[in-house]
Amino acid sequence: MIQLPWVLVAFFCLLADPVAAQTAGERLRAAYPEQLLAVDGNDLVWKDGTRMRIDDGRGAKPFEQWLADPDLKDMLAIPYPRGEAAAAPTVNEDPGRARNAAFFTRMYGNCAMGEVAANLVDVVWLPKKSGQKLKVTRINGVADKVAAISRLLDELPASFDEFLKPSQGTYVCRPIAGTSQASAHGYGIAIDLATRRADYWRWTAGGAAKYRNQMPIEIVRIFEAHGFIWGGRWWHYDTMHFEYRPELTGR
Ligand SMILES: [Zn+2]
Repeated sequence: MIQLPWVLVAFFCLLADPVAAQTAGERLRAAYPEQLLAVDGNDLVWKDGTRMRIDDGRGAKPFEQWLADPDLKDMLAIPYPRGEAAAAPTVNEDPGRARNAAFFTRMYGNCAMGEVAANLVDVVWLPKKSGQKLKVTRINGVADKVAAISRLLDELPASFDEFLKPSQGTYVCRPIAGTSQASAHGYGIAIDLATRRADYWRWTAGGAAKYRNQMPIEIVRIFEAHGFIWGGRWWHYDTMHFEYRPELTGR
């Protein structure tokens, strides 16, 4: 009985953390100024008046639930180590792998309804080295950022080419392999580089527990400087994968 009040305090802390909600909301607003207007308590307010709850009040979630059904705050729960050397993440350390579907669908559209395709534009991948055309969304200036990244990667020595070309692709309207969740590729914000030197946890005997990476950090840092996160920083690693998530890179 003596412990009951503390149990109640802990219970209500789990239900909602207004400070964390405010911080998460401000980070999102700063990352997407074209779309987001303000944070109002536990609501993220979009410029068109849409309101989304930042903290769903369900507290810290087990990993699978965090991945499958994150609220806006959960997307920022794991810090993203921008710029650092590549290293094996700890178990289930997957910064950015949880995506709130309502948030990204509101931002980029529903690919199954043709809404994402309406905003895709062609970007020439590595104008000098490749010339491949890739479809990327123009929303939030993502296509312009991919073009800027492409120009910088094009200047790297030829020893980097096998990591960069051909790109395995950008826009695909499909769920993530092995799940029913929308892939970042379905929003037109992701790019996969060449598969020749790629490592993916699902391809590797030992799975996520056997971290592998060959991607040069120089390539990673160019993407990160433009607001892209890298799948090589995930316990469930996907080293050819990059996606535009400025709320995590702070860029
Ligand atoms: Zn990918």
